[in-house]
Amino acid sequence: MSDCLFCKILDGDIPADIVFESETAIAFRDINPRAPTHVLIIPRKHIATLNDISVEDEAIVGSLYSAARLIAAEEGIAEEGYRAVMNCNAAAGQTVFHIHLHLLGGRALGWPPG
Ligand code: 5GP
Ligand code: ZN
Repeated sequence: MSDCLFCKILDGDIPADIVFESETAIAFRDINPRAPTHVLIIPRKHIATLNDISVEDEAIVGSLYSAARLIAAEEGIAEEGYRAVMNCNAAAGQTVFHIHLHLLGGRALGWPPG
């Protein structure tokens, strides 16, 4: 997708602080971090929203959570706790339409989100 910000990061056209790469996913630090650790984990495949995930994408989406587990351990937040969350569409605040897990940690996280 030529007009997708995260596809441009995947292609190296826009720089990012990449912390993880696998066959199916990459992860990089959020440009506007909302917590001491705020990493975005995205699939290499362009999928616009959670609503667009198909059965064939299940392994790819699963790999986002495997990445979250590994990055949380690397960041030293696995034991204290963290959140891995995907916003879907306007009411949830999705602004970039290439699915991404927000990995947030390093501080107490309120529940429910505002
Ligand atoms: P959403 O609101 O779609 O769930 O999350 C999009 C996230 O992407 C936001 O947290 C925002 O700060 C982040 N973001 C937007 N543009 C860029 C960028 O160019 N680089 C990086 N690293 N993060 C970005
Ligand atoms: Zn994309």
